[in-house]
Amino acid sequence: MGKENVILKTEDLTKSFNGFIAVNKVNLAVERGAIHALIGPNGAGKTTCFNLLTKFLEPSSGKILFNGMDISAEKPSQIARKGIIRSFQISAVFPHMTVLENVRFGMQRSLGSSFYFWRNINSVDVLNTRAMEALDQVDLNRFANELAVNLPYGRKRALEIATTIAMDPELMLLDEPTQGMGHEDVDLITELIKKVSKGRTVLMVEHNMKVVANIATTISVLQRGEVIAEGSYEQVSKNHQVMEAYMGTADAELEGH
Ligand code: ADP
Ligand code: MG
Repeated sequence: MGKENVILKTEDLTKSFNGFIAVNKVNLAVERGAIHALIGPNGAGKTTCFNLLTKFLEPSSGKILFNGMDISAEKPSQIARKGIIRSFQISAVFPHMTVLENVRFGMQRSLGSSFYFWRNINSVDVLNTRAMEALDQVDLNRFANELAVNLPYGRKRALEIATTIAMDPELMLLDEPTQGMGHEDVDLITELIKKVSKGRTVLMVEHNMKVVANIATTISVLQRGEVIAEGSYEQVSKNHQVMEAYMGTADAELEGH
């Protein structure tokens, strides 16, 4: 993998909570254009890792590099302006705003109060146009003026994705995008992720092995804070350490098909 093809890299990324090491010297290299999945049994450190990458947590040690730049010390709003956008969990969808207002508000919130950025795109027209384009990509345009509370669950998650792509991110970070969904919604969201990933890079924490098998181009498997395997679904699903890590856990199965 050439250096120029790596969009996000971590070097010995480590996080401990009062002496408990939740993420232990993780070295990730996310390739540009990839759909890179972070998987692992419960308690493996996936969410902690995700929160480090999005700067919601400070690393105890190690580095995070985005396009070769050290972003380890930056704030969430700073990395958002560089093109790294995380999808927020469902709780961040505002039920009594319309679908369109949610996307617009999400754009403003992610970028924080960067006057210099907003000076350029702060007109309502520009915001609305971008928001509608994002809704179009996830097939929500006909719901634009509907209150978010009235959307079915799967569509609410699609709204989160729309809010994320409205920022035109170079790197999209998705935290369990299919969590709590029935089969139909899982299929809907899987297809949406595949569609909106064109021309971008996606890094996602995902529990559902069917989703991972379907769309992930690269998988990193975490166990007890450490990466134990990496590669395609074919590769990691045959890995003995991975099979053992998943053995006896009720929460995940490696049979993706
Ligand atoms: P996963 O998302 O893979 O299920 P987490 O990253 O949530 O795992 O957690 C990894 C480990 O770190 C778990 O043992 C969890 O209890 C611990 N942990 C996570 N966050 C904290 C915290 N804020 N304080 C103390 N321990 C934590
Ligand atoms: Mg988690």
